[in-house]
Amino acid sequence: MVAEVTARPRGAIGVVRAYSDLMTDASAAVSARVRAVAESATLAIDAKAKALKTAGEDVIGFGAGEPDFATPTHIVEAAQAACADPAAHHYSPAGGQPALRSAIAGKTRRDSGLDVEPLEVLVTNGGKHALFNVFLALLDAGDDVLLPAPYWVSYPEQIRFAGGRPIELSTGVETSFRVSVEQLEQARTPRTKAMVFVSPSNPTGSVYPPEEIEVIGRWAAHHGIWVITDEIYEHLVYGDARHVSMPVVVPEVRERCVVVNGVAKTYAMTGWRVGWSIAPVPLTAAMARLQSHATSNVSNVAQAAALAAVSGPMDVVDVMRSTYDRRRKVAYERLNAIPGVSCALPQGAFYVFPSVAGVFGRSVGDRIVTTAHELCEALLDTVQVALVPGEGFGAPDGVRLSYALSDDDLVKGLDRIADALS
Ligand code: GLU
Repeated sequence: MVAEVTARPRGAIGVVRAYSDLMTDASAAVSARVRAVAESATLAIDAKAKALKTAGEDVIGFGAGEPDFATPTHIVEAAQAACADPAAHHYSPAGGQPALRSAIAGKTRRDSGLDVEPLEVLVTNGGKHALFNVFLALLDAGDDVLLPAPYWVSYPEQIRFAGGRPIELSTGVETSFRVSVEQLEQARTPRTKAMVFVSPSNPTGSVYPPEEIEVIGRWAAHHGIWVITDEIYEHLVYGDARHVSMPVVVPEVRERCVVVNGVAKTYAMTGWRVGWSIAPVPLTAAMARLQSHATSNVSNVAQAAALAAVSGPMDVVDVMRSTYDRRRKVAYERLNAIPGVSCALPQGAFYVFPSVAGVFGRSVGDRIVTTAHELCEALLDTVQVALVPGEGFGAPDGVRLSYALSDDDLVKGLDRIADALS
């Protein structure tokens, strides 16, 4: 979104001028490839909520998954030191600084038990960029990628952009939003090249138990299917849930596996844009080649910060995790108390994904809402609360709330939703 704020007209869509308002004849020149890409629903909502706040509106943003904490001090100090170091002022290897690639390999061994060579690591501009590289480097036209839904909004867009076809496999609250190996097998065809596996999940907060990961990993290895496993929420698990990395549980998956991760969620570093992929060396080399033409190196200052993060103390992460743990229970209880809204207790990440089908047909403010999208628009417009509609996640009966916001805002926002829906 263009974060240009106008006077507040009625209707959330009108609050911020969108690119579509500013179209000129040049829009006809945009390639078909890029015209086919939908805007990121999560970032669009976030931009809207932030622009409204800047304009003085009392908006509560449950939109983008972004920790409300500041980045821990020792990480910021490492970046400050890098700013003053002339070595950081110049190009560095496109695939990442050697010290950071080694530290990521070490951190992966420490945290998930996966043995990693630095040459298998590619440092990227956030986890999203790592995924973009992976799909571009792996997929040819005609390749299918199995994608359990609800899924994070960027996977299908990136897969299609790379020429592949996302094959959605729907899951629901009755299976804790976890895909089964039977579903995967039913969807498998000779065109199936890869599957996306996310645990803890964005947007549902579900976490796969080790035995299910093992069954899925064995199935993928048996059929020669690549697994792209997004582990960005690895440290954010609650209660009895624990994060287990598929290539650790199923070593034979390793030769066709890409682990995607980053510092954003664990260390409250969303804006620093440092992520990485871990993949077999030939694929990593291919992605590094691609990256050498697309972005060159990730900012050296951000890489210095990431180095301090992955090789630094984890107690700061524990504090954030226990805060999210407390908030998830508040979100779960309050949402379930709203008539027509029901949700499962999330086991990981910092999202809750309630079903809101029970409120369709009800009025919110002065309008009747019949879809998740309409509900989110009505809530933003009438009670200034920003949620992400489920349509973008392939789950039109749901909405996503991030509970990575302050305790006060969490309660205030949930009260507003309850009032609007009662
Ligand atoms: N991954 C976060 C989310 O789902 C950040 C926004 C984005 O990149 O989509 O909200």
